[in-house]
Amino acid sequence: MKVVKFGGSSLGDAKRIKIAAEIIRSDKTSRFVVLSAMQGVTNQLIEAALLASKGELLYKTIFESLKQLHLDTINQLVTNNESFTLKILIPMFEELEEILHGIELLQDCTPRTKDLVMSFGERLSCQIVSFYLSSIYDSVEYIDSRDIIKTDENFSSAAVLFEESNTLIVNRLANLSRTYIITGFIGSTLKGITTTFGRNGSDYTASIIGSALSVDSVEIWTDVDGVLSADPRIVPNAYVIPELSMEEASEMAYFGAKVIHPYTLHPLIEKKIPCWIKNTFNPSFSGSVIKDNCINHEPGTITAIASIDNVSSLNIIGSGLIGLPGMTSKIFLVFAKLGINIIMITQASSEHSLCVLCRTEDAHRAREQMETDLKESFQSHYLREIEIRDNLEIVAVIGDKMKGTPGISGRLFSALGNNKINIQAIAQGSSERNISFVIDSSDKKLAINAVHETFLRPKDIP
Ligand code: ADP
Ligand code: ASP
Ligand code: MG
Repeated sequence: MKVVKFGGSSLGDAKRIKIAAEIIRSDKTSRFVVLSAMQGVTNQLIEAALLASKGELLYKTIFESLKQLHLDTINQLVTNNESFTLKILIPMFEELEEILHGIELLQDCTPRTKDLVMSFGERLSCQIVSFYLSSIYDSVEYIDSRDIIKTDENFSSAAVLFEESNTLIVNRLANLSRTYIITGFIGSTLKGITTTFGRNGSDYTASIIGSALSVDSVEIWTDVDGVLSADPRIVPNAYVIPELSMEEASEMAYFGAKVIHPYTLHPLIEKKIPCWIKNTFNPSFSGSVIKDNCINHEPGTITAIASIDNVSSLNIIGSGLIGLPGMTSKIFLVFAKLGINIIMITQASSEHSLCVLCRTEDAHRAREQMETDLKESFQSHYLREIEIRDNLEIVAVIGDKMKGTPGISGRLFSALGNNKINIQAIAQGSSERNISFVIDSSDKKLAINAVHETFLRPKDIP
């Protein structure tokens, strides 16, 4: 038994949907199919909601083009679709139109409303694909994942309530003679309000379902041949990593490798369920497998490079940072209070400063809140100032085999130095699986290619 997941890149138009459907149909073990929205749809839904919230009527044009895209797609997939279109698609578009109109009237779009708007992407694609599949073979059932995945109320990045969800999943997906087409990316609170798991969240849906059902494997079907040694848009000669460990892949996802959502592997680790990354447009290629106990992976000391952009650093400076117990915890409390994710922290023991890296969109509100909440520390001069630097990039080199291998940092920083790249901060996880460094965004391409060239030249790999 397996869960297969197709991303938006595999669902761009009717032609691509047919290719994905053939993969589903030809493998009788793929009974649980998780789908994303059609390519570009989530972005357009967000754009429409944003424009409506500013009172800009251009949102109506986006709405019409989304409607047209889905109607064209169903027309190209199934000739006889009148009743389906009238009963299912048209009412969904009527509802979406009303919600967008509501946003326009209120000139406000809360994270809760935005999650509801985004949910239309997956609901529409899954309805269309299940109708298409049921026109070519039997026993296909559409499943709205909001009925089986329960979450907290943290809209746009909801946490799954596994106990409740696992029971619902096992009970609802019990008929093993069926093919279930399940909406990715979305869940709902215990009160039934729509939530989402953050961008790219359909990968996570696949692993939540796979873990609940203890399947043999999860397959993520996308538009590249597997997990690559670096982002192929940055490093054109990046190559496929045939096998990598759960920890390595988690690090890659956390550090921005878009190919899987950062939480994807968590539900699979405990049950040791392998996760395959495969290419919908090259299905005979073996792809990459992410698995527990991966002893067989690439020779060489690092496995891959990943990076996060739109990062800012907050350099918090003051004598209170040395020798005054509790100061660091007060600082971190501010980030926790605002729900801001800290991506990386560095502190040199001799310095009166702490460097915290987070998303640029969060940095300025973090500073404002710190200036308010830690006012006394500023007044008593334990804290002097908080400097913000924008336009930064965190690059991570990742590999299980780095542990205990001397000389990697030396080679890494020489490669960067030789290319005159200035490094603003460095951190190494205690697992020794990851060395991260911070550079100016403008150096990103040069730095990543220099590091790839140093450690990951395809000719080094036998
Ligand atoms: P999907 O729509 O299938 O979910 P995504 O666009 O979310 O696809 O993810 C696949 C894309 O991730 C690839 O097309 C590739 O450009 C990008 N990517 C970034 N880093 C990596 C990596 N290390 N390995 C593979 N793909 C990567
Ligand atoms: N449709 C959502 C997004 O674009 C979820 C996904 O594709 O995994 O982020
Ligand atoms: Mg994706």
